[in-house]
Amino acid sequence: MFKFAGLRRAGVIGCITSGRGFVIALKGYAGVASATQAGIIFSGALLFLAGCATQPSPPPETIREAGPVISSPLNWTNPAAVKEFAPPPPRPVTTVVLPISTNKPAVTVSNPAPVTTWTSLNRWAAAHNLGAPHRLTGSPVTSYALGSKNGVMVLEISSHEATWNGVEINLGFAPEFIDGEVFLHGLDLQKNLEPLLCAPPLAFGPNRVIVIDPGHGGSNTGTTNVLDRRFEKEFTLDWAKRLAPLLETNGWKVFLTRTSDVLVTNSYRVTFAEMHRADLFISLHFNSTEREKTTGKRDERTSGLETYCITPTAMPSTLTRGFEDNWSEILPNNAFDAQNLQLAVRIHSALLRATGMEDRGVRRSRFDTVLRGQNRPAILIEGGYLSNPAEAKLIESPEYRQKLAEALANALK
Ligand SMILES: [Zn+2]
Repeated sequence: MFKFAGLRRAGVIGCITSGRGFVIALKGYAGVASATQAGIIFSGALLFLAGCATQPSPPPETIREAGPVISSPLNWTNPAAVKEFAPPPPRPVTTVVLPISTNKPAVTVSNPAPVTTWTSLNRWAAAHNLGAPHRLTGSPVTSYALGSKNGVMVLEISSHEATWNGVEINLGFAPEFIDGEVFLHGLDLQKNLEPLLCAPPLAFGPNRVIVIDPGHGGSNTGTTNVLDRRFEKEFTLDWAKRLAPLLETNGWKVFLTRTSDVLVTNSYRVTFAEMHRADLFISLHFNSTEREKTTGKRDERTSGLETYCITPTAMPSTLTRGFEDNWSEILPNNAFDAQNLQLAVRIHSALLRATGMEDRGVRRSRFDTVLRGQNRPAILIEGGYLSNPAEAKLIESPEYRQKLAEALANALK
């Protein structure tokens, strides 16, 4: 009934946060679609990983290619997409207010101002016409499942990690158990639970346009394959080229931010999506652990798939990669918080199903400059670790990259 879903290992630079226990998702949870998957997720220490160079970097010297150019005149005046973001101001200004009584009224979380209140999960579920959270038995930790016609969310007390239909997602704040009730932060209810449990699934119109962004290019090589030193930029481009015709078959008009080994700035990748009035933006990468400062060696054990979307305002990121995580930032792409998560979960789930890779979760970050200024749902996928020899070998194989392309295209039918 249960399957072992993943084991995390210690990182290489010693920034290890709290280890967590098990989450058990019940198969066939009452009243829930058959998509519910049984799973045990053992998650040890969260890693402080560095990967391919998706972090902000000095602007490259030139842009040698602008990619395909649309024939119609551009009508693009939004400065947000080309804005060079200043270093974030000092962090955070959010005040978290813990409930002091279970008799407090339920809090409405539709206010655009930062939500800082904790709410009873029972009350929130009732207000959204959902059944009461269901305590999972047989789990070594205290877990609750909450279902809707869309699927099942499993939450673990005191853990940021949750699952949606068996796939890992990350909350901003760990649920608390107070006076016999589960409480969640209002932002998690608004930004994580509501889009998945309550909102209709993403749907795409007939004239749909997608920009696929093969990470890196030219002198920005990305990370290197631990086996033979081939560059990430080569594998991301091949993945994109395999993906494009499949998406076209599914009715998408597809534009690639680069179609050859050329340097493209991150800000241009954002501008490019705006020029083509893209409905979706997907950036393709492969991952790596950071080199240890004294030995220059990388942790070769870490493996698995990760999918990123922008962190909602006033919420902490899952990954900061050493950058300041300014909770108060309101980024252009925050207008698509709900769709970003829906898109990320949909594609992440499809990739996991197709490849059988380890699930390292749908994560939130603020430092990915290709995502911050996007005026459309946008995600960044890390399709495996080039620092892990077994995954590096897989990523080298055209069959694996084709599998990634097909799974992604099928998720966007
Ligand atoms: Zn990369």
